[in-house]
Amino acid sequence: NYGEVCYYIKELMEKHTFQLIETVADVLAREILLKFPLVQKIALEVKKPNAPIMLPFEYVSVAVERQWHNVYVGIGSNMGNREANIGNAVKMLNEQRDCIVTKASGLYTTAPYGYTDQPEFLNGALCVKTLQSPEQFLRTLHSIEQQLGRERTIHWGPRTIDLDILLYDDIVMSTETLTIPHIDMENRLFVLKPLDEIAGFMRHPILNKTIHQLYTQLEEK
Ligand code: ATP
Ligand code: CA
Ligand code: CA
Repeated sequence: NYGEVCYYIKELMEKHTFQLIETVADVLAREILLKFPLVQKIALEVKKPNAPIMLPFEYVSVAVERQWHNVYVGIGSNMGNREANIGNAVKMLNEQRDCIVTKASGLYTTAPYGYTDQPEFLNGALCVKTLQSPEQFLRTLHSIEQQLGRERTIHWGPRTIDLDILLYDDIVMSTETLTIPHIDMENRLFVLKPLDEIAGFMRHPILNKTIHQLYTQLEEK
C-alpha cells in the first residue's frame, strides 16, 4: 500500500539525521524492503533542493535500486559436533537483519574431498533471501565461520564449518576473492545432492543445465 510506505518514509526521516543523500537513499530502500515483506524490489530517487554546489541546479538527486536476492549456500562441517555447528551457522545467518533462511536441505554424510586423511563431512544446502551484495554476503559468511572457530590451515582440511556461495540469483562473476557460481560445484556430489533437494529446478547460469540434471549426470558417473 503506497500510503503506508509514504507514512513509513516520513517516520524514518523524522527518526534519523543523514549527512549524505546517498545514505538516505540506501537506508530508505533497505528499510522499506525489510518492513514490507511483499515488496521484492524498489527503485528510489531522493532529491535534495538547494544542494551546496555553485552551479545553477535546482536540486541534486540520487537514484538507487535495491531488491531481495536469492542465494544458495553450501554448508559443511567435519570437526566437533557437526550437527550443532551447522545448526548454529544457520541460526546466525538467519539472525542477520537482512538475511532470511527460507529453505534447508537434509544433511548428508560424505567422504572427504581433496585432502582425504580427515574425518567424514556432514553437508547440506540452504536457500537464503538477502539484501546483501555478493561481497557483503561473503563477508557475512566469513564472519560466521570465524565466530564458530574455523581456522584456515590446510586447504580442504578439517573445519568446524565451511560456508560457500553456490548460486546468487543468476549472477556470473569472478574476482580474486569470489567466484559465482561456486567453482567445481558440478563435480561435487556432496554439493549437488543437498542442493537438488531444495533447488533441483534452478539452472546453472554457465552450464545451462538444471541442478537436477547436473546431479543425476554426476551420480551416473
Ligand atoms: P572450495 O572453495 O574448493 O570448496 P574451501 O571452501 O575449503 O574450498 P576456503 O578456504 O573456505 O576454501 O575459501 C577460500 C577462499 O575462496 C575464500 O577466502 C573466498 O575468498 C574464496 N571464494 C571464492 N569464491 C567463493 C564462493 N563462491 N563462496 C565462498 N568462498 C569463495
Ligand atoms: Ca568449500
Ligand atoms: Ca569455503
